[in-house]
Amino acid sequence: MSLIVQKFGGTSMGSIERIQNVAKRVAKWHRAGHQVVVVPSAMAGETNRLLGLAAELSDMPDPRELDMLAATGEQASSALLALALQAQGVDARSYTGWQVPVKTDSAYTKARIKEIDGQRILNDLNADKVVIVTGFQGIDPEGHITTLGRGGSDTSAVAIAAAIKADQCLIFTDVDGVYTTDPRVVPEARRMNVISFEEMLEMASLGSKVLQIRAVEFAGKYKVPLRVLSSLTDPEIPVEEEIVSGTLITIEEDPSMEAAVVSGIAFSRDEAKITILGVPDRPGIASGILSPIADANIDVDMIIQNQSVDGTTDFSFTVNRSGFKQAIKVINEVVLKNVNAREVITDDKVCKVSIVGIGMHSHAGVASKMFSTLAEEGVNIQMISTSEIKTSVLIEDKYMELAVRALHKVFGLDQETTDEE
Ligand code: ADP
Ligand code: ASP
Ligand code: MG
Repeated sequence: MSLIVQKFGGTSMGSIERIQNVAKRVAKWHRAGHQVVVVPSAMAGETNRLLGLAAELSDMPDPRELDMLAATGEQASSALLALALQAQGVDARSYTGWQVPVKTDSAYTKARIKEIDGQRILNDLNADKVVIVTGFQGIDPEGHITTLGRGGSDTSAVAIAAAIKADQCLIFTDVDGVYTTDPRVVPEARRMNVISFEEMLEMASLGSKVLQIRAVEFAGKYKVPLRVLSSLTDPEIPVEEEIVSGTLITIEEDPSMEAAVVSGIAFSRDEAKITILGVPDRPGIASGILSPIADANIDVDMIIQNQSVDGTTDFSFTVNRSGFKQAIKVINEVVLKNVNAREVITDDKVCKVSIVGIGMHSHAGVASKMFSTLAEEGVNIQMISTSEIKTSVLIEDKYMELAVRALHKVFGLDQETTDEE
């Protein structure tokens, strides 16, 4: 017998029939003698629908109320799954985040999990129940409902797995594993049987939404064995077959796995660029611009400061598109009062494309191959950022798919490699 956390995403929970299939799959694991905690997402499209309603009422809705609203999606899907399991003769009980409780900080719409009390879950498991816990949400120290950022049910599942010391966390989704890039954009993308934790972390942080980045961080920190697999197969496939399907995220380094120079391409459409022209080139300017942005809880990603001309310079940075309007407000209301500037230019028609691979740091010329490939396709690079295991570029968003396909091909990712099992 093992203790397993199973997360099912929006598409997997997308209709009554799909919920019944999830229930069949869960019941199968329960019948096979495992203790199962299920973490469902809201039904497909529901979170977007709810946030869309809020957007009709306000340009910049109160984040606390957004969380009250968005958290209902998972509450509904969790209760429906409990009912589906009960209809199949399985004793199941659902809980919201605050009932567990899943304790978070107070950063509405992107809260971080601080602590989970696993006792209530464990008590029910020991009474042979299947326990369902809403994904995506928790409660802050003042008792307000919070949500964990889009895609946050992955993080709920891994954090719960860590809290109850589960043997495995299985992320069931609408693809059968982690691919070299999004298979919806590049049909030739290949599924990996294993991916290293570092690479998965980088892919997730650079926009591969198959796993939310904080889920990968938790898995690394608490050594939770994590697997991404399909929820769209026959729900009755034998447990022994299912447990080796999909992609395993390996925490331990596997010495037999040759480090791929480039193992994946990630991209994010969620970018926006802000350029402040003609700011004085003197100490304190970067902090004068970026500190108010950080104080407003807006994450800044890429940053460029140009060479100074006549004592002034241009300063560009990118933010997540969801923080774009607020960032512009902070610039107009705070930054431009502290820092003299000639003009502010904003652009949300940009995207970020990244190549990722732990073998990259020991191979010269990987970044230049990326740049020359984009040049051949006529794609202009607006910003660049690099680390040991990734190179990212900011480009116009209409070129995103072209760029991803060209890079996937030039780095040979459509071909079979030796690290496939
Ligand atoms: P869920 O609702 O199950 O959480 P998501 O839509 O959040 O599912 O994540 C699964 C989707 O992630 C896939 O349908 C796929 O389009 C996308 N994706 C992006 N990058 C990758 C990748 N490298 N490998 C697999 N899927 C990817
Ligand atoms: N329902 C939330 C979202 O759509 C959380 C999740 O699905 O992981 O972002
Ligand atoms: Mg997801």
